[in-house]
Amino acid sequence: MRVTELSAALAARRAADLYRRRQVVDSPQGAEVVVGGRRVVNFCSNDYLGLAGHPEVIAAWRRGAETYGVGSGASHLVCGHLRPHHALEEELAAFTGRDRALLFSTGYQANLGVLGALVARGERVFEDRLNHASLLDGARLAAARLRRYPHGEVATLERWLDEGGATLIATDAVFSMDGDLAPLPALAGLARRHDAWLYVDDAHGFGVLGERGAGTVSHFGLDQARVPILMATLGKALGVFGAFVAGSDELIEWLIQSARTYIYTTALPPALAEAVRAALRLVRAEDWRRRHLQALIARFRQGATELGLRLLPSPTPIQPLIVGDNETALRWSRQLLERGFWVAPIRPPTVPAGSARLRITLSAAHREAQVDGLLTALGELSA
Ligand code: PMP
Repeated sequence: MRVTELSAALAARRAADLYRRRQVVDSPQGAEVVVGGRRVVNFCSNDYLGLAGHPEVIAAWRRGAETYGVGSGASHLVCGHLRPHHALEEELAAFTGRDRALLFSTGYQANLGVLGALVARGERVFEDRLNHASLLDGARLAAARLRRYPHGEVATLERWLDEGGATLIATDAVFSMDGDLAPLPALAGLARRHDAWLYVDDAHGFGVLGERGAGTVSHFGLDQARVPILMATLGKALGVFGAFVAGSDELIEWLIQSARTYIYTTALPPALAEAVRAALRLVRAEDWRRRHLQALIARFRQGATELGLRLLPSPTPIQPLIVGDNETALRWSRQLLERGFWVAPIRPPTVPAGSARLRITLSAAHREAQVDGLLTALGELSA
């Protein structure tokens, strides 16, 4: 874009109802938040277990800052790899049943770093069409030959693999804008038969699904041999920030040697790692959060079906309502906010053109009455 073209580009975004705006939140994350001077019920955060404001997590952060300071001071390979980082990596490896885990500052960086470390220029990478932007960008940055198979279509992927194989297959485990699960057992079988890496991004399943919240890979009973690369984030169900990759000892060693987004960036604050350790203890110990969340999901789906609303086949806290055009998504979001419910409108290019939606997310912090309130409001809008 040339300097003189910027104003027109912004105007075009506005004209297409694609302009994005940020809302300032004046409270901690939680079932209720304060925006625009009003307290509203929050149905758009990824704080699925309600841990972002948990007193034990906050206390661990505070103690961590008192013990280790606020900044790590350097990258992991220089002198920024502190005891809390190391302890958290060991706990994440044990929790996911893998040899080792490696912390990254964000999930976005983890995806860029792993793909760059494992895929050479011109090698083939196959990805689900609805994968998160960071997995697609990782393949692009690696200068891979990227092909995107239709969402969940294992048959197409198999045909492509038969035609010439791939270095790596990457998929979201829970699709971030749809809430459905990738067919991980089938993908694992294909990857093994075709000698390809299977890379699973479990940003939205980790903490929510599987044995004590160990994630989607655990939910399907798959192990490190079947899914050699697992990535998950720490800023969603874990309620804090950051990400990790877990796998074999050799994989982690290779990433330490060559993942550029690991090597050339400052390590996370050590106090943050202490907060994640506290959150991880709650995730493992408090099964009631997942049970309550599942009950809310069932309640919402039942109520929405009774209202005749079109839901996607999602067993997760992500329960999008597809409305189609951008203008309707914006209007519904605005009208819900007027009624005291905050639901984010999601538009292209985050989702395919013509599939703008309200991305409703449920949390263990919600009460049943809040879900019922949202359903009543949706009933009024759709009547
Ligand atoms: N992968 C998926 C599937 C995601 O939804 C996200 C976050 N939106 C990321 C990766 C990026 O994680 P982070 O926010 O930690 O950068």
